[in-house]
Amino acid sequence: MRLERVRLHVLRMRMKEPFRTSFGVEEEKRVILVEADVEGAVGVAECVAMVEPLYNEEWVEGAFLMLRDFLAPALLGADFDHPREVAPKLDFIRGNRMAKSAIESAIWDAYAKARGIPLWEALGGSWRPIPVGISVGIQPSPEALVRKVEGYLAAGYRRVKLKIAPGADLEYVAAVRRAFPDVPVMVDANSAYRLADADHLARLDDYDLMMIEQPLGHDDIVWHARLQSRLRTPICLDESIHTPEDAEKAIAIGACRVVNVKIGRVGGLERSLELHDVCRAAGVPVWCGGMLETGIGRAHNVAITTLPGFTLPGDTAASSRYWDEDIIEPPVVVTPEGTILPPKGPGIGYEVRWDRIARVREAEAELVPS
Ligand SMILES: [Mg+2]
Repeated sequence: MRLERVRLHVLRMRMKEPFRTSFGVEEEKRVILVEADVEGAVGVAECVAMVEPLYNEEWVEGAFLMLRDFLAPALLGADFDHPREVAPKLDFIRGNRMAKSAIESAIWDAYAKARGIPLWEALGGSWRPIPVGISVGIQPSPEALVRKVEGYLAAGYRRVKLKIAPGADLEYVAAVRRAFPDVPVMVDANSAYRLADADHLARLDDYDLMMIEQPLGHDDIVWHARLQSRLRTPICLDESIHTPEDAEKAIAIGACRVVNVKIGRVGGLERSLELHDVCRAAGVPVWCGGMLETGIGRAHNVAITTLPGFTLPGDTAASSRYWDEDIIEPPVVVTPEGTILPPKGPGIGYEVRWDRIARVREAEAELVPS
């Protein structure tokens, strides 16, 4: 196989409602789509870097240049037998995993399409309805949060993830727990606390939470182990797991009991498979996180979630949660049972709506082998 052409598209899309986390508020999504031509098939994927480098060091403008000037040129014209060989070809560039993931995942999609098989099958997954949860941003009051959660439960979501930050934590979690005693609830702190907050965080143990996600530093593993020894609630690591080896280390020192897999955060589908395998071998459950993706990123998340280690509901909500009009057809929908049914068509299995993309496109670039 040979990568024959790469197209980059930068889109600006209005979100249905602002999403607030401990990072700030997102109202508008700027996103890079990558198209990769392989063996006559065109694969597509998205780069989940945010507009500003707040989740990690990457951002949209930087990722665009990274893809255009380094990653695409490194791969264009290169021969490979299988998309698993793509990630190692990008190892010479440090970091920049979201940009790497976008081009690598697009090649996977093209590979699956060229063979006429679904992406989940190419990844070694097996078809099953995927249980999904929903991630709820920080609300103005505990009462407002309870009302939001009520709506999502009625829509079928099976577990609720609450974003928390100092000043918007115990009271909010308590209100949700009081209103819905049996619903699986987890919280995500996005690194908003410090080890000195351990006593405060231990009070979350009263609410029977599935897990607390990334309470401490975005780059920390060691203090999380210290904190985990003081909490009954399992810690899940997100931001601080960049590689499969990070997960091995975290598990070895007891820094987490659950791992969030984000394809973009770890550099693509190959690394996600490796991370999945490391966790599964250690008996640590994984679930698929979300980065407020368009339908294209969502489709990749659905595909990876068909692997057997994904035993906890992920964050891949319906397209309608974030978008009035998604850029794929049909949109990702959540069944009344709170599941997504992986499509059975080739590649990501959803049709890309290029007509809608053309309306929200700000910039594009086409690259061919030199
Ligand atoms: Mg998270």
